[in-house]
Amino acid sequence: MDVVILGAGHAGVQAADSLREEGVEGRIVLVERDLALPYQRPPLSKDGLAGGLEPLPLRGADWYADRDVELRLGEEALGIDVDARKVVTSAGTIAYDELVLATGAAARPFEGPGAGLRGVHALRTASDASALRDALETASRAVVIGAGYIGLEFAAVAAARGLDVTVVARSGRILRRSASAPVAARLASGLEELGARLALGSAPVELVADASGLAVAGVRLESGELLPADLVVVGIGIAEPGHLAAAAGFDEPSGVRVDAEFRTAAPGVRAIGDLAVFPSPLDGAMIRIESVQHAGDSARCVARSIAGRGAAYDATPWFWSVQGKLKLQTAGIVGEGRDLVVRGDPDAKFSVFAFEGSRLESVESIASPADHLAGRALVAAGGAGLTREQAADPGFDLRGFAKGLAAPET
Ligand code: FAD
Repeated sequence: MDVVILGAGHAGVQAADSLREEGVEGRIVLVERDLALPYQRPPLSKDGLAGGLEPLPLRGADWYADRDVELRLGEEALGIDVDARKVVTSAGTIAYDELVLATGAAARPFEGPGAGLRGVHALRTASDASALRDALETASRAVVIGAGYIGLEFAAVAAARGLDVTVVARSGRILRRSASAPVAARLASGLEELGARLALGSAPVELVADASGLAVAGVRLESGELLPADLVVVGIGIAEPGHLAAAAGFDEPSGVRVDAEFRTAAPGVRAIGDLAVFPSPLDGAMIRIESVQHAGDSARCVARSIAGRGAAYDATPWFWSVQGKLKLQTAGIVGEGRDLVVRGDPDAKFSVFAFEGSRLESVESIASPADHLAGRALVAAGGAGLTREQAADPGFDLRGFAKGLAAPET
């Protein structure tokens, strides 16, 4: 069986690895438009940006040949003929029995006036990070558009380097859709402790040019305020992840819809990682998750499915972010309007347990790795059994409780 994987990011490389682990013996072709050896994205907005490191490879250079994985760097997939089971790339045509779409996503650009000015950056790829590292050498005032994880991580790095940093966003608080209020409040105060300013509740409407008309000099907000800036980082999510598949006749460009084994509507075509819109194992709602955990676990799931040992995806989502000295780890996904229980000191080390009825839905931990590991086990086990009182009590043996739940019945 010949498998073609489009995109050699976290999901695509793991898919190649897991296909071999599952004993798939035919040709495995990994097509990647970037020229760099496939690399890890999380450090690009964290220590990789601060330290000027080369991107960290996902696998060593020899790994691909050792596993007989044909890595084609600098080759872009341009189209898919699902009837003929062929991919058209910038270098020719590749036939497949099974196709795995793992093309991730691109950073969503700012759509107002001035988006193309010099000094306006995205942060998705190693070359974005390299350009930003250079810009950090000379810039003095940075504005971050968007209060999501990547923008906030960048803000922490830039503020720690002594830049004057302002984060702007339409929403009234940071991480509005992805973190509970206590966690967002602690991360916001962490940024302020680093010297960053948060200008929330007013959307940026225009990037203003300097006297040359070529470089950015400021960001105008809806409120009329003009924030001076010689560096602007746009962190407002991702753009049209599914356009390649949409061009091949798949549904909407906002992602590729798949079933619980990541199969698309087209025979022999699957989609994983950031690109996939899949049924949540919890309630069947169609969701997309952008995380290293999901990229890896969806790849493992699809490899088992291709090898004929498929089972519905049931991975527990987990995620991390590093902002200055604060490390956040999450297990599960916190929904709106949940009952929140705080364990520990919300100004220092703590975790937030989100309950929906009697079920523990998610655990977010700041500087509390033991809570995170126990929380992951509890959420994975279905979230039943733990009471709010136990969660809130720092003396309660959470680890032992989680171990008890996971222990096999005797
Ligand atoms: P990608 O990793 O984006 O890989 C897709 C690949 O496909 C790319 O290499 C791209 O070049 C290639 N490609 C696209 N189109 C084509 C085409 N037409 N032809 C050929 N190749 C193509 N997650 C966490 O869990 N924790 C973190 O701390 C964290 N930090 C992050 C920091 C940054 C700066 C970024 C950008 C992301 C971060 N993430 C983090 C998210 C995580 O990196 C992504 O969820 C993950 O990379 C998704 O993997 P993927 O393989 O689906 O997509």
